[in-house]
Amino acid sequence: MRPGKMLREVLKHLFKKPATNMYPAEKLDMPKTYRGKLIFHADKCIGCKLCVRDCPSGAITINKIGEKQFEAVLDLGKCIYCAQCVDSCLKKALEATNDVELAQLDSKKLKVVLGEKSGSSS
Ligand code: SF4
Ligand code: SF4
Repeated sequence: MRPGKMLREVLKHLFKKPATNMYPAEKLDMPKTYRGKLIFHADKCIGCKLCVRDCPSGAITINKIGEKQFEAVLDLGKCIYCAQCVDSCLKKALEATNDVELAQLDSKKLKVVLGEKSGSSS
């Protein structure tokens, strides 16, 4: 690039809003339709396991924990956040949120029992 052109580029970008953001100091403003952290509505689940069948990465399992009671266990390390399980669930027991904060320092904590409020608990 010629120096004149380079200088014009530099000056142009001096007054532009930065393309990067200050995460995690500033919260990310994700689109509402973003496919992030899953939540599970246990009261709606009938244990049909369509979500398990259709998950392309084998990331979700459904366990029977009582009479007509089920829990969903998600492996955050395997999940690719495609939301196929959400689409497959006829009872709307799974929901994708726009929450992206899923990082764990301990890999053992990547396998979580999905809950309604936090999206996960171990
Ligand atoms: S598809 Fe829905 S209702 Fe069926 S097991 Fe999965 S979460 Fe439960
Ligand atoms: S979001 Fe996709 S990869 Fe993750 S559990 Fe659901 S179907 Fe599987």
